[in-house]
Amino acid sequence: MTFRDYAPAPESTAILKLQKSYGLFIDGAWSDGHGGSMTTISPATEKPIAEIALADAADVNRAVAAARKSYDTVWSKMGGAERGKYLFRIARLIQERAREFAVAETLDNGKPIRETRDIDIPLVAAWFFHYAGWADKLEFAGLGPKPSSLGVAGQIIPWNFPLLMLAWKVAPALAAGNTVVLKPAETTPLTALLFADVCQQAGLPAGVVNIIPGLGGVAGQALVEHSGINKIAFTGSTAVGRGIARTLAGTDTRLTLELGGKGANIIFDDAAMDEAVEGIINGIFFNQGHVCCAGSRLLVQENVQDEVVEKLTRRLSTLRLGDPLDKNTDIGAINSRAQLDRITAIAATGEAEGADRWTLDCEIPKAGFWFRPTIFTNVTTSHTVAKDEIFGPVLSVLSFRTPDEAIAKANNTPYGLSAGVWTNNASRMLRVVDSLRAGVVWANTFNQFDPTSPFGGYKESGYGREGGRHGLAAYLASGGAR
Ligand code: NAD
Repeated sequence: MTFRDYAPAPESTAILKLQKSYGLFIDGAWSDGHGGSMTTISPATEKPIAEIALADAADVNRAVAAARKSYDTVWSKMGGAERGKYLFRIARLIQERAREFAVAETLDNGKPIRETRDIDIPLVAAWFFHYAGWADKLEFAGLGPKPSSLGVAGQIIPWNFPLLMLAWKVAPALAAGNTVVLKPAETTPLTALLFADVCQQAGLPAGVVNIIPGLGGVAGQALVEHSGINKIAFTGSTAVGRGIARTLAGTDTRLTLELGGKGANIIFDDAAMDEAVEGIINGIFFNQGHVCCAGSRLLVQENVQDEVVEKLTRRLSTLRLGDPLDKNTDIGAINSRAQLDRITAIAATGEAEGADRWTLDCEIPKAGFWFRPTIFTNVTTSHTVAKDEIFGPVLSVLSFRTPDEAIAKANNTPYGLSAGVWTNNASRMLRVVDSLRAGVVWANTFNQFDPTSPFGGYKESGYGREGGRHGLAAYLASGGAR
């Protein structure tokens, strides 16, 4: 996962066979939605891609009823090895259709094709392969000899890694024997709808996976409030996650929350500087910074601060912003106008509150939503850009003198999702890593994802883990978060 690989990319939309409009995928078939429709657009051009039907509360009822029926009559009765076969089939189909999925994701989301081709879609296949292997081995998940499924899982996902977030949720849910109703984000429904087609191709029994695009406040809320749902898995903003937790308080619906973050990348003076700089750039500018575990705060030891900032800006100057379907692009479009406005507003506080701003000097395409990679230096812990999640290509640089000060500053956030530590001193590495209150801490690397590793947060970054055997616990009766 570097910004240096320039292999041939499937950058052409010619391989897509998109429909003009898409319905809801319920009970193994396409049906109308009754919550109106919206046009999904390319954030890089603002051109329409397709018309998407939206679910209302009655459609949610239909989807939950279909998932319940297939759970009761088919999926919960099926042996694990057989469930695994379906998941292996889905994984292989994703691999076969990887180019198409990469282009569709880039078109709908705005992220560079090299990322969807080399990271998102390969990880999607890896997630399905991983959980396919678990389906007949649940007794080894560490949750007792016969862990049982929960029933119907309602899954609500964001727009930053649309198909990957679907895979993180659908694969373990199905492996553990649950059926699913999934609501994609408003601005990125396309790959979830293409995934419905993969389910059909794989011969997955009707109702095991139901995909219902819809508005958060309508379909999302109806899903959360539905009494027929046994588990809600949510990834998105802390504000919405908090509301969902309130709604489910006192019910027996299980809940896992994957929320925001304000990750710290800590760089000590003895680090391998060029590698660290590459990791810092990857940590914040990968996917335009639309990453919950982004290393959006750089904590740099004071005596190397000038050197690091100089190396950072020099390397950043080589990044290319533009057409996400161009294989040479490093920085794609911001996913929506609303997100662009949010990033712009928070970044404006940086200068207003006294930080120094460095911005990549580059042309911005005329149409679409764009934000130039930006670094704030001379940032203090009281600055808004050091505290609020920006969810965009903006890095805030703070300094520290001692390891204890670095630890205190890194932990000085209501979030607790990710951190990175860069040092060649092994004992310091172990001590600092142990002291960081974050669900994942990367050592001399950043943004590494693997289906075998648990991922999740502390504090206001949510609770529950996704990935590996820990991710199964969220979908089995004897384990997982509430
Ligand atoms: P959001 O929380 O509004 O949306 C995420 C998902 O939740 C979407 O599918 C949305 O339709 C749904 N949703 C919205 N309101 C709902 C409700 N009341 N009930 C049920 N579902 C609901 O996030 P956003 O507006 O797309 O992004 C806002 C901020 O969220 C970002 O700036 C970022 O800070 C954060 N975010 C975090 C992640 C992450 O991976 N942790 C991903 C996307 C966004």
